[in-house]
Amino acid sequence: MTQLKIGFPRTLFYFLYYPFWYTFFTELGCEVVTSLPTTKYSLDLGVEETVNDACLPIKLYHGHVAELKEQVDVLFMPRMVKVRKMETEVFCPKFLGLPDMVRNSIADLPRIIDEKVDLSKGLFPKWDLCRKVAEQLEKRGFIVWQAYRQAQKCQDKFKQYLVQGIEVQEAIDAVIEGRICHESKQFTTDIDLAILGYPYLIYDSFVNVGLFEKLGHMGIKPWTVEMVPPHRLEAQAKYLPKSLFWYFSNRTIRATFYYLHEKKVDGIVHVTAFGCGPDAMVDKLMELEAKHSGPIPFLTLSLDEQTGEAGIFTRIEAFVDMLRLRRKNDENIFSHHG
Ligand code: SF4
Repeated sequence: MTQLKIGFPRTLFYFLYYPFWYTFFTELGCEVVTSLPTTKYSLDLGVEETVNDACLPIKLYHGHVAELKEQVDVLFMPRMVKVRKMETEVFCPKFLGLPDMVRNSIADLPRIIDEKVDLSKGLFPKWDLCRKVAEQLEKRGFIVWQAYRQAQKCQDKFKQYLVQGIEVQEAIDAVIEGRICHESKQFTTDIDLAILGYPYLIYDSFVNVGLFEKLGHMGIKPWTVEMVPPHRLEAQAKYLPKSLFWYFSNRTIRATFYYLHEKKVDGIVHVTAFGCGPDAMVDKLMELEAKHSGPIPFLTLSLDEQTGEAGIFTRIEAFVDMLRLRRKNDENIFSHHG
């Protein structure tokens, strides 16, 4: 019997939830197919297929869907609404309307599973969601329960690896192949830099024009949102009088508080997409907080489809030079007073 092919675009929620869904569908006897890592081709396809005012990540999602659509029987495109038990916190509106946007923009799509992901209500919301998704594949009963349990185990391991600082793609590959990942070697660095932002910007090296490789060559240790232990991230909520409406924005702002207050970093870089509505507020909040805590130098890197390596690297190099100079001055002051 031929296996049903389920398509999972390698962007947006791929970077945080792929291990769960890969395991779930595979355990149900399906074959999971992803698009290739982002290239100029995926971006061009996305730009062609999307409305003009969409942000870069949404254009890219369209590009990945267009690349995948002929290779699969079903596209998995969950409607991401809420993943926590917080009534007021939702995904960015662009995520909420994504399946409709894709249907309206791209022709000749295969069948789409666009089950709503709302984990804010009920006793076992994730299990309920899995049951509904499985029903669309005509799977029921114990096999679904088993697939759900395996998927959850795989996802837990994945999250653990991220907190340990394992690179996202390496952690994804390891958990789905059932390999053990070893914690990265101790990194000797003179500069610790928090690189904060949404996972689909931070972990897609085409979108951020190889920022992490560049930092590695410069001997800089990057710290990301996903490296903050979940309970420590949650604990930062107390520093804001009111939570923001958007899930990823709350994670980014809480990680900012964490790195500023608890794990000292030399600087903060906010990686954002040009034209991102939620980030207009997030960026300002981060900047203000960095100013109040220290101050700690803060840099915003705004990405769009025209972003080139040269522009990003020049700014990063200048920022790091400034951080090193600052550190030298601090050391001189201390040695004069010592
Ligand atoms: S949060 Fe910003 S970058 Fe992400 S999808 Fe929404 S508008 Fe686009």
